Amino acid sequence: MIRLLRILYLNVTPRNEICLKFLLVKLQAGEFSMITIKHDGCILCVGCSSVCPMNAIEVVGTRMEHFPEKCIDCGLCVRGCPANVIKLHKGVKDLKDIPKEER
Ligand code: SF4
Ligand code: SF4
Repeated sequence: MIRLLRILYLNVTPRNEICLKFLLVKLQAGEFSMITIKHDGCILCVGCSSVCPMNAIEVVGTRMEHFPEKCIDCGLCVRGCPANVIKLHKGVKDLKDIPKEER
């Protein structure tokens, strides 16, 4: 998280500034969340990666991969997914806290 803050702070662009503010507000509020993708239902439309401000979700090989270390949990990818296979788990810090059937 500190690394992500540093990257956003050092690379000042209007988009990064918004992301940094979003992340700081979340951290101050003590909010945590985590994204999961149900790969079975993904149609590889790349709608999620096209709306992600952090490049935290991308095609790797033949499937979409999420990179939590870049993610600010903004939820834009969830709304951008026509197949409804991305889920934002609020209050979750670790993937192991999410039931297997939801990953
Ligand atoms: S929640 Fe989705 S859109 Fe937002 S930064 Fe994370 S991967 Fe990108
Ligand atoms: S938006 Fe949904 S269906 Fe499209 S590539 Fe992303 S995860 Fe897959």
